[in-house]
Amino acid sequence: MARRLTAVRARWWLLVLVFLTAASAGASAQSFWDELLTGIELSIGQSVAAGVFEEYGPPARLSPEEQQWLAAIFSDIAGRAQRKEVPYSLTVLDSPVVNAFAAPGGYIFLTIGLLDYIGHDTDAVANVIGHEIAHVERRHGMNALGRRLGLGLVLQLALGPPSEDSPVWHQVAVIATELMHLGWSRDQEHEADNTGQRLAAAAGYDPHGMVRFFTILRELEGLEIPFLEFLSTHPLTSERIERARVRAELLTPAPRSRPKPVSPYTPRGSAGEPEAPPFFVP
Ligand SMILES: [Zn+2]
Repeated sequence: MARRLTAVRARWWLLVLVFLTAASAGASAQSFWDELLTGIELSIGQSVAAGVFEEYGPPARLSPEEQQWLAAIFSDIAGRAQRKEVPYSLTVLDSPVVNAFAAPGGYIFLTIGLLDYIGHDTDAVANVIGHEIAHVERRHGMNALGRRLGLGLVLQLALGPPSEDSPVWHQVAVIATELMHLGWSRDQEHEADNTGQRLAAAAGYDPHGMVRFFTILRELEGLEIPFLEFLSTHPLTSERIERARVRAELLTPAPRSRPKPVSPYTPRGSAGEPEAPPFFVP
């Protein structure tokens, strides 16, 4: 026990020493913490993503044309993101649940259930991807996680990346996954809509695509179809739709250097799945 305490104390001193060294370097202290936090964020994202695959199963199989189309939209939008240290990736999950979500570290997920409703509308898909990337750009997940973990756990993470099977890590991954399922606040949703529409417009997509997506959600809400998880994690209000509409009027899509990708998406409802490798854009 005494030896363990000594080891803990030594790690504390090491942390203090590292902090003082970084702080004495002045401007580099900020980048030191930024790098540390980004490292933690990427590790948390990996754990959360692993949990998503456990829950939803392997990625969906898409035709080569569908893969190219989604990869083109995704690289257009992610290419406009400001957080260059985040390796954004897109995965389509083989699930009838209508959902899209983002995990820390830039993991963006869309479901087949969602694409079945908006897959014909390239601009709508671009805006949804923009919205999810915006949650990561604005660090919504990490900020919420920081509040839930408290200083003790954050310091433990800062003391060095714990091994993946450590109790601390398990606790962090469970909380991060819980937060993802709880969804975002109204303000965070407004912020993600705003940034998402701007990203889409900057990449040459129509920001009205967001409004069309919301209109479809509204219709589905009225029908009370099962699996409509998007609304539980991204509450939709009339104010939110109206704001998106006003913003879409004000934003002008940037000129594109190559034509906008045209959707080849085949809804899966009855068409069945084509033979193709699982879809993942690194
Ligand atoms: Zn959202």
